Amino acid sequence: MFEAVLGLFVPAIALVLAVTFALLWRRMPDRTYVASIAAGFAMLASGFVWFHYFVSMNNLASILVMHVLFSATAIFLCWGLVKRANRHFSIPTAIFVEIVAGVMMAAALVSDDLRAWLFTVNLGHGLLFALTTQELSRSKDRGIIDNSLMFLAGLLSAIFFIRPVFTLFVQETLTEQAYRESGLYPLLLITVGVWALAISMTLLIAVLQDQIEDLKKDAEIDPLTGLRMRGAFEADAKDLLIERMDDHRAISMIVADIDHFKQVNDIWGHQTGDVAISNFGRLINDMVRDNDLCGRVGGEEFCILVSDCDGPQATRLAERLRLALATLMHDGMGPDLRLTASFGVSSWRTGEGYGAMFARADAALYAAKQGGRNTVVFEGETRNEHMAVTAEGKSDVERRSAAAG
Ligand code: GH3
Ligand code: MG
Ligand code: MG
Repeated sequence: MFEAVLGLFVPAIALVLAVTFALLWRRMPDRTYVASIAAGFAMLASGFVWFHYFVSMNNLASILVMHVLFSATAIFLCWGLVKRANRHFSIPTAIFVEIVAGVMMAAALVSDDLRAWLFTVNLGHGLLFALTTQELSRSKDRGIIDNSLMFLAGLLSAIFFIRPVFTLFVQETLTEQAYRESGLYPLLLITVGVWALAISMTLLIAVLQDQIEDLKKDAEIDPLTGLRMRGAFEADAKDLLIERMDDHRAISMIVADIDHFKQVNDIWGHQTGDVAISNFGRLINDMVRDNDLCGRVGGEEFCILVSDCDGPQATRLAERLRLALATLMHDGMGPDLRLTASFGVSSWRTGEGYGAMFARADAALYAAKQGGRNTVVFEGETRNEHMAVTAEGKSDVERRSAAAG
C-alpha cells in the first residue's frame, strides 16, 4: 500500500505542475519556453508512473521506454530553461547524448548488479543539466531568479552524478529487489519531488517577471511609431545623461515637429495624419544608430538623443532627416504631395540635466518655425547657418494652403 502511494507522489506533483504551466502558456502563447516546461513535467509524471508500475529489470523494452520518457523530460526542461534566457540549446546534441547513454545503459543490464545501470541511467540527464547550467551562466545581466534557476539546474546535474557514487558506498551489490526496498528509492522520489517544486516555484516567479516586463514594454512603446512614449523617453534620457556625467563624450539632442500638421488632419483626415506620423517615426528609427534614443514626445513631435555626436554632426543628421521626410510619400495624401518638418538641435553641456538640454533644443525648434519652417536650427542661432534653405523650402501643405487661401 505504502509503495503504491509512494509511486504516485512524484507523478501527482509533476502533473499539477504540467497543468499549471500549460494553462499559463495558453495566456502567453508566444512564450514557448512555458510550453516546454509544461511538456517536461508531463513527461516526468509519465516517467515515474512507468518506472513505478511497469518497469521490470528483466524487460529491456520497459527500461528503454522509461529512458525515452526521462530523456524527453530532461530535454524539454533544459530547452525551456535555456530558451527563457534567450540562449541556444541544441536538441540534436541532446538527443545524441541520451541515445549514447541509453546504449550504455542497455549494455550495463547484462549484469544482475544494478550499480552499472544506475551509473549509466543518470549519465545523459546529468550531462544535459550540466550543459544547461553552463549555457545559463553565459547569459549577462542575471538577476536573482536567473541565478536561482541556474543553481537548481546545476544542483540536479550534481545529484545525477553523485547519487550513483553514493549508492556504491551504501551497497556493495544491488539487485532490483534490494534497490526498491532500500531507502534509496524513497530518497530519489523525495529529491525529485522537492526539486520539481523548487524549480517550478522559481519558474512561476520568472514567468510573472517576464509578463510584467512585457506589459512595461507595451506601456512604454508608442504603437503608431514603434518609438518610446514621452514618459519612457524622458526617463531613459535622464538615466543616460546621469550615466555619462563623468565622461566627456559629446551628446546632442534633436527635436522635430511636422509643419502645418493641423492642416493635414483638416484636409486629408485624422487617419491620414496618423499614417504620416507613423511614417516619420519609422523613418527616424531607421536613420539613427541603435544606441541613439528616440521618442515621440508629442502628437507629431519627436526627440532624439544622439550619443557620441557633437552639435555640427547632429545638425547634419537632422538635415538628412529633413530631406528624407521631404521626399517621403504618405498613403492617403496623393502621390505628388510631401510633408516637411522643422528641427531644433542642442548639444550637451557636461553636467546639465535633461530639462535644460531639451529647453535649448526646443527654443531652436521655435526659431526654425519662426524662420519659415522646413529647416534645421542649432541652439542659439536664429536660422540655419550651416545649410542654406533653398527656395523649395516651402512644404506642399504650405503651398496648398497658400493657394487655397
Ligand atoms: P506648426 O508648423 O507650427 O508645427 O503647425 P502645426 O499645425 O503642426 O501645429 P502643431 O504642431 O501645434 O499641431 C499639432 C497637431 O497635431 C494638433 C493635433 O491636431 C495633431 N495631432 C496630435 N496628435 C495627433 C495624432 O496622434 N494623430 C493625428 N492625426 N493628429 C495628431
Ligand atoms: Mg507641427
Ligand atoms: Mg506640434
